[in-house]
Amino acid sequence: MKFEKLPALTRREEDEPGFEKESWKPTWKCYCCHDTGFVLDRLASLVIDGYDAEKSKIPKCSASGCGAEVGVYLEESGTLDCRLSSEVCDRLSEMERTSWEGYRWKKHQLRKEALGLVEELAERKSMRNVGRSEKEEKEAKRRHLRVVENY
Ligand SMILES: [Zn+2]
Repeated sequence: MKFEKLPALTRREEDEPGFEKESWKPTWKCYCCHDTGFVLDRLASLVIDGYDAEKSKIPKCSASGCGAEVGVYLEESGTLDCRLSSEVCDRLSEMERTSWEGYRWKKHQLRKEALGLVEELAERKSMRNVGRSEKEEKEAKRRHLRVVENY
């Protein structure tokens, strides 16, 4: 049997083609789980000893500002780790938010630096062109003449 395939849907907005990554900033309300209801692996490993994303139960987010709902079925299925308190999740959320701000600030700085470098290079280039143009013109003429003579 042949299946009529559906187009793949990107999970995150920033992975879509043509997305301007520079201007992207997270829109999620809860930084602990990125509004999925499941605590990020990276954060979970900070508070669960020996946490293994492949083998451990998925920690459920209970941050106080979290609006994500994982659903009763999943909650009852026993695949979730519901031990993380809202206090812990709030702290993780805060940590993640701060690290994002730091990341964005760093990126902003790098971008500013890169722009400054481009401007500097452009300036240098234009200075060089002014300084060299006469000499370069002579050289070009000389080369042109040689090509013509040898033709
Ligand atoms: Zn959450």
